[in-house]
Amino acid sequence: MLKQVHRAYNFNAGPSALPLPVLQKAQEELVDFRGSGMSVMELSHRSALYEEVHNEAISLLKELYGIPEEYHVLFLQGGASLQFSMVPMNFLPADKKAGYVMTGAWAEKALAEAKLIGEVFEAASTKEEAYRRIPQFDELKYEAGTAYLHLTSNNTIYGTQWTDFPDTGDVPLIADMSSDILCKPVDVSKFALIYAGAQKNLGPSGVTVVILRPDMLERASKNLPTMLRYATHVKNNSLYNTPPTFGIYMLGEVLKWVKTMGGTRELERLNREKANLIYDAIDNSNGFYRGHAEPGSRSLMNITFRLQSEELEKKFLADAKKEGFVGLNGHRSVGGCRASAYNAVPREACQALRDFMIRFQTENA
Ligand SMILES: *Cc1c(COP(=O)(O)O)cnc(C)c1O
Repeated sequence: MLKQVHRAYNFNAGPSALPLPVLQKAQEELVDFRGSGMSVMELSHRSALYEEVHNEAISLLKELYGIPEEYHVLFLQGGASLQFSMVPMNFLPADKKAGYVMTGAWAEKALAEAKLIGEVFEAASTKEEAYRRIPQFDELKYEAGTAYLHLTSNNTIYGTQWTDFPDTGDVPLIADMSSDILCKPVDVSKFALIYAGAQKNLGPSGVTVVILRPDMLERASKNLPTMLRYATHVKNNSLYNTPPTFGIYMLGEVLKWVKTMGGTRELERLNREKANLIYDAIDNSNGFYRGHAEPGSRSLMNITFRLQSEELEKKFLADAKKEGFVGLNGHRSVGGCRASAYNAVPREACQALRDFMIRFQTENA
């Protein structure tokens, strides 16, 4: 039996909730990891025991996400934000252009970084529509010979998510999956590269996962500082320098938890149930709550909504805080409210939020 502990209704956008059993196991193993007489943080990253942790995390991620055997899984640092730079540094040569699908603030940041490296273009954009939706495939404009097409699979700030991905043929498809990796099954073989900061669905901050199709290394620029070349990390199994060992250990434990939960298929079912508890409260509120995303583009992970006035939003957030809800304010750039219901957020937290939303409406309509 798990010990009863105080746990907040944590709807933080990132860093965000971790599964309680993972935290408790880490606590249990903190000072004596697998009989070593030391914490996993105190192990040499060259030790056999650490290597076991490292390789176990890689193979579990491959298994759970259905990553083709030949693909590389890397654990890097610098967050998704460094990937905004590393992707074009490695894969945007001087004689080509890279296409970016503009679906939100993170896509804008990725594009801005790529512009510092080479030539880019917008393959589609829903900015004029306040990023309320994901573009249709037939809105995507790019040519054969495009260096790569970059998209953001889940738009953390606006609350929209791709439900399917385009077949881009010879044009490598690259995705920032920071806020929805492992929330549902994905056909990884469609992608040349996937990256994700760990702190939303995978573990603590400090680790960035990169999933790389091996043929991409052949087209990568060779004229880069060692640490910025994907090839360096592939060649050294992400052990070129000291990796964030504790974060990788935690990521491995989160993956084991995903497995006990039934894998991505079962998590998708659960995530749908969780998100629908809140979307239904919005849809059945007669306009008291207004969802930001168009229904067809709604995110399973980040549920964004507004109330009828900023005063009412302030009251909603203040009352929610009093009831133990954390992290419900929208991103500082867009305002409003946002509930981030990542994999580790329990169904009960979403049920509690739904109940609170209905109660708040009754009392304030
Ligand atoms: C959080 C987030 C980022 C930024 O990640 P860092 O690890 O802080 O650099 C990038 N893209 C998306 C989609 C995100 O949700």
